[in-house]
Amino acid sequence: MSPDFPRRLKDAGIQPSAQRLAVAEYVLSTDEHPSADQVLAKVQSRVPMLSRATVYNTLNLFVEKGLLRQLVLAEGKVVFDPKLERHHHFIDDDTGMIQDIPWEAVRVGDVSRLEGLEVTEYMVVMRGRRLGGPRKHAGKKR
Ligand SMILES: [Zn+2]
Repeated sequence: MSPDFPRRLKDAGIQPSAQRLAVAEYVLSTDEHPSADQVLAKVQSRVPMLSRATVYNTLNLFVEKGLLRQLVLAEGKVVFDPKLERHHHFIDDDTGMIQDIPWEAVRVGDVSRLEGLEVTEYMVVMRGRRLGGPRKHAGKKR
């Protein structure tokens, strides 16, 4: 998949400036669920003259225009997610990595039957650790 970022920005009503494209190239294609500061570090490593304000404003603009979702996955932890279709998230307690979980993989009880509430959106945020696979702290016992 090679997304046409200038096109995608224009379609969303955003002028595709060089600075916005630099942000788009990372944040609209990553599955890392970065925080704003992580986006800043990543984009500045390639385009050092990009200011913090520009990066933050661009992120807000992308969210406002529906290119990006802003998620609060844990208290005080706001991340950005370019994957717009419904999905759940798994946070690895060992590494802090946030992984996408397909919508169909988790079944949630009937949210439409919550009394007095009209649910417009929901997702499951799971925490835990990865079984098997290499552990980041392998060997170290706590
Ligand atoms: Zn996600």
